Amino acid sequence: MTTMDRNEAAGVLTSRAWITLDRDALAHNVAVLRTLLPPDCTLMPAVKADAYGHGAVWTARELNRLGVDAFCVATAEEGAQLREHGIRGSILVLGYTHPTGFPLLERCGLTQTVVDGAYARRLNAYGRTLSVHIGVDTGMHRLGTDWEQMERLCAMFQLDHLRVEGIFTHLCVADSDAPEDRDFTRRQGKVFREVVEGLKARGASCPKAHLLNSAGLLRYPELGGNYARVGIALYGVLSTPGDTDRCKVPLRPVLSVKARVAAVKTLQPGESAGYGRAFHAERKTRLAVLSIGYADGLPRALSCGVGSVLIDGQSVPIAGRICMDQALVDVTGLPSVAPGDVAVVLGASGDRSIRACDMAKRAHTISNEILSRLGARLKSENQSVWDVPAG
Ligand SMILES: *Cc1c(COP(=O)(O)O)cnc(C)c1O
Repeated sequence: MTTMDRNEAAGVLTSRAWITLDRDALAHNVAVLRTLLPPDCTLMPAVKADAYGHGAVWTARELNRLGVDAFCVATAEEGAQLREHGIRGSILVLGYTHPTGFPLLERCGLTQTVVDGAYARRLNAYGRTLSVHIGVDTGMHRLGTDWEQMERLCAMFQLDHLRVEGIFTHLCVADSDAPEDRDFTRRQGKVFREVVEGLKARGASCPKAHLLNSAGLLRYPELGGNYARVGIALYGVLSTPGDTDRCKVPLRPVLSVKARVAAVKTLQPGESAGYGRAFHAERKTRLAVLSIGYADGLPRALSCGVGSVLIDGQSVPIAGRICMDQALVDVTGLPSVAPGDVAVVLGASGDRSIRACDMAKRAHTISNEILSRLGARLKSENQSVWDVPAG
């Protein structure tokens, strides 16, 4: 029995809908991603957005145990939450922090991204030493100082209260095979290296430089750097089914989502179900009511047969419109389904599985969005679950 099976057999999963986390899969992904790291490079996992829906504290704790000692998050509050739960190592805040948040950065020992020259001066004006990494814009045109502004970048090293511990840029088309995108990524790598070397030549040395995200590490490890800011790959999928299938390393999904069957209804031909009466029974139909809805992160775009779930290893289509808290599935082909049964919304059941990238494709988005929007209301049973004794 796997740990997950054991926990389910122990009957502790009593929620209406929940997330199960596979700690072994996370450790496996860390191990395989580490084999790809260029020399002098370590993982800096992206645990922003509650670790892409996996739970930031659970994920960072596991990663600390696996020897990971650098993290990146989107906001100072996310960093503070990790510190409150005893997470060790450096925590880089990738996004903007308002000056009213500077004391939080200081108190929690967080590292702030310098988003541009004016922001560097605001950080310095705080008057107490803050650790920073300098963001460099090499073509994404999101955060960071333009790579051509060497004087402005150099000036940041002269500011008394900034402890510059690193410099980084972000790749924006590293997941694309189009020749012009491959050229773009290589050019981003080249100008970033020139910036780092140019600063060094001017006596402005940065201990750490980094640019790889998941796609970067998987496809352009030769671009190097001291950290790989890996997010989506760590969680065991890539953004699209194509990317996931083409990925040459065997990643394993960490997260599953399950939902309880609350009731089963029989409809006669001609009857309808759900909002807008969007489902019409053409034959005698059995519908199972699942206790999960779009407020739990099940995209409403999967309504009316666009999406499906797994019950007893069989795929059953979503019937009618997904509601905020519930969804209907057509279980006419599965006569044994009964209230209390469990449907797999994401993850494996028997020989079948629904990956986040598969669900994402049907909902016209990417895995990252599907995962990061989970969990607002779903119970993550990991903590109590893992503590249940074996057998
Ligand atoms: C979110 C983010 C990452 C992680 O990206 P993945 O594609 O999930 O690996 C890395 N760097 C920055 C700046 C980010 O915002």
